[in-house]
Amino acid sequence: MEFVTVIGLEVHAQLKTRTKIFCGCSTAFGAPPNSHVCPVCLGMPGVLPVLNRKVVEFAVKAGIATRCTINGTSRFARKNYFYPDLPKGYQISQYELPICEHGRIDIDVNGETRRIGITRIHMEEDAGKLNHHPGRPVSHVDLNRTGVPLIEIVSEPDMRSPEEAGAYLRKIHSILRYLDVCDGNMEEGSFRCDANVSIMPSGSSVFGTRTELKNLNSFKHVEKALDYEIRRQQEVIEDGGVIVQETRLWNPDRGVTTAMRGKEEAHDYRYFPDPDLLPVVVDDAWIREIESGMPELPDDKARRFTASLGLPAYDAGVLTAERELADYFEACLRIYGNPKPVANWIMGPLLGRLNAEGRTISASPVAAPDLAALLKLLDDGTISGKIAKTVFDEMAASGKPPGQIVSEQNLVQMTDTGAIEGVIDGVIAAHPEEAAAFRNGKTRLMGFFVGEVMKATRGKANPKMVNEILRKKLG
Ligand code: ADP
Ligand code: MG
Ligand code: ZN
Repeated sequence: MEFVTVIGLEVHAQLKTRTKIFCGCSTAFGAPPNSHVCPVCLGMPGVLPVLNRKVVEFAVKAGIATRCTINGTSRFARKNYFYPDLPKGYQISQYELPICEHGRIDIDVNGETRRIGITRIHMEEDAGKLNHHPGRPVSHVDLNRTGVPLIEIVSEPDMRSPEEAGAYLRKIHSILRYLDVCDGNMEEGSFRCDANVSIMPSGSSVFGTRTELKNLNSFKHVEKALDYEIRRQQEVIEDGGVIVQETRLWNPDRGVTTAMRGKEEAHDYRYFPDPDLLPVVVDDAWIREIESGMPELPDDKARRFTASLGLPAYDAGVLTAERELADYFEACLRIYGNPKPVANWIMGPLLGRLNAEGRTISASPVAAPDLAALLKLLDDGTISGKIAKTVFDEMAASGKPPGQIVSEQNLVQMTDTGAIEGVIDGVIAAHPEEAAAFRNGKTRLMGFFVGEVMKATRGKANPKMVNEILRKKLG
């Protein structure tokens, strides 16, 4: 039986505000347990929440970037449930009237663009954290995270493969990081994702029953967990069983999902408008002000890189995926204006090295002005292409600028005809048999002679001149 996969994602992104959503406590990660708390975020009786204006601004930014409608009026609601990490017994979230709705983003998968709908974006507070004792049946409650602002971005069930889900997630991640509203750190939990997945017989238009996968803390795990879950659902159906709507936990060590709990329905939460908070009003003037402070986003940047810089779409996609990488590229370009070589050097030697060392572009050992300076030296003939690679490695190892390396190690390209002729005469004299063979028509020995001359000059001879002079002398 052939099946079609249906996936919808819920992303929780922690907002990069200095203070919490309804009180002045710090949001800093990693502080001693229960040191960033106050009566408001501890849920003491009689306290009143006051909304952090920055949270609204950040949510609106995310909404504009994903082409949502920004609701002029939205409302906070109480989502009631009991759990030890939730001191109030309810989470302040948005329900019937979220701040943003009906958006979309485009993703590229296998050279094809797919449009994925955004159902809604709402603001809410985070819960605390339970730390389970490894040896004893004891859990400790840390409420530093209670009240840290989140936005939840809910997608339409528009994705049809784990690969598309991965691409969607990377794009949302990229957009939020461009906007500088979320640090995107998946390990520290500031960017989290729940994946909803179902399958249906191909040709059907009725979605199957979904399961919801949790504990997906890397892009790779999201794709792997979905792969596993799709196979599991197929097997259940092919064995004549039915899928139960439930929440399942991804186990990265065993590579399986396991049932965690039955899926609760919205009515289980007894949502109702929070009487302690006024409706959130965002007028057009404020929206325009927020929009005017937004940076160029990855899609627009990629379009500009292809249309006005002439880069291939692939290069533009790689270079704009992360804001820091795009900034690095543009910083190089301001000094050395030829886009394609800059793109090649970044995507080849630089990213190759960073990936191998597990570093990001922000920790690049080669600064953008230095890479640009290297390309200039190459362009004006000061160094050869071969030497440029050597200089690059040395720049990465020592952090020195290319000009200094070239002069210290005497790597300037030999372009003096007389000097190159001298070396070539020596090489020909040392290999009389090869020279004779060449003259008798064995012209593929050219490579051998070029190699010998390069060896003798430690790679510094201008390769074009070497070829020309060799051809003349051996002809
Ligand atoms: P809940 O809070 O109950 O998880 P939400 O409306 O917040 O409900 O999220 C539902 C998510 O599940 C959305 O991302 C939606 O696209 C997705 N979804 C809904 N129905 C299906 C389905 N049949 N298969 C896969 N995903 C689905
Ligand atoms: Mg859900
Ligand atoms: Zn507080």
